[in-house]
Amino acid sequence: MAILGIPQNTINILKKYDFHFQKKYGQNFLIDTHVLEKIIAAASITKEDFVLEIGPGIGTMTQYLCENAGEVMAVEIDAKLIPVLEETLADYDNVTVVNEDILRMDIAEIAQEHNAGRPIKVVANLPYYITTPIIMELFESHVPLESVTVMVQKEVADRMQAGPGSKDYGALSLAVQYYSKAEVVANVPPNCFMPRPNVGSAVIRLACHESCPVEVQDEKLLFRIIRASFNQRRKTLQNGLGNDASLPVSKEMAARAIEMAGFPPAVRGEALTLEQFALLANVLGEIMKG
Ligand code: SAM
Repeated sequence: MAILGIPQNTINILKKYDFHFQKKYGQNFLIDTHVLEKIIAAASITKEDFVLEIGPGIGTMTQYLCENAGEVMAVEIDAKLIPVLEETLADYDNVTVVNEDILRMDIAEIAQEHNAGRPIKVVANLPYYITTPIIMELFESHVPLESVTVMVQKEVADRMQAGPGSKDYGALSLAVQYYSKAEVVANVPPNCFMPRPNVGSAVIRLACHESCPVEVQDEKLLFRIIRASFNQRRKTLQNGLGNDASLPVSKEMAARAIEMAGFPPAVRGEALTLEQFALLANVLGEIMKG
């Protein structure tokens, strides 16, 4: 089978199947072998690995994954791509293609069934319209993960790596820090894709922590606090927490927790580090118990 990362081969297969790109599925296929090699190298795929690929498209990166991994599962939402994948992946017996929406799949169960519950690697050129839900789902549903190496919009990569005080800092930055160590592996210009996206892209590798970097009694409460703080970014933390419908916390309780944690009364969520949010969650958790 011809290597798809070469533009002419991609054009040929798209023509053969009379394939039309679907904007609603975020279809921008990679056509640059250097970028593909970089992604595979950054994910350090070996024959020991079970790899989940989200959105294989016509199978361009899947071919590289099959060459390097022990087992690959590729989940593609677009039924029109399934016959294409049958052809482009015909040479490999270590791949399963599933026609499904990744957000409707139980990935922890897949890891259990296919990798005996051991940590899996996720590799993808993600559909940009659902990058954050996919990353949050992987983390929050406690899928056993070794690493997540993904192509994302450059701006999302910036948000993932941002710290307090930056305009990019938010709930995604804190979730990424809580669960992993992030490193941008490559910046990728629009001409590496077909069709070209309107934005710059970056490959980011999230190396997942074996144990969380902060001690927190109630992880769900931590993330509810974080979301509430950034939902109302302009407000002080006290008002943000006291006014959020998802948190059964009065303004007085929020004020008491902020004082007990040792933060100034008018502090804003965007100024707090992950460690400080964890401290606040532990203090507020105690106050909520009454
Ligand atoms: N991996 C291919 C490549 O690099 O050339 C395609 C990447 S393209 C940016 C994103 C792919 O994800 C498309 O094939 C699209 O159809 C698929 N996709 C979009 N939404 C999806 C979803 N909810 N679940 C699974 N796949 C999805």
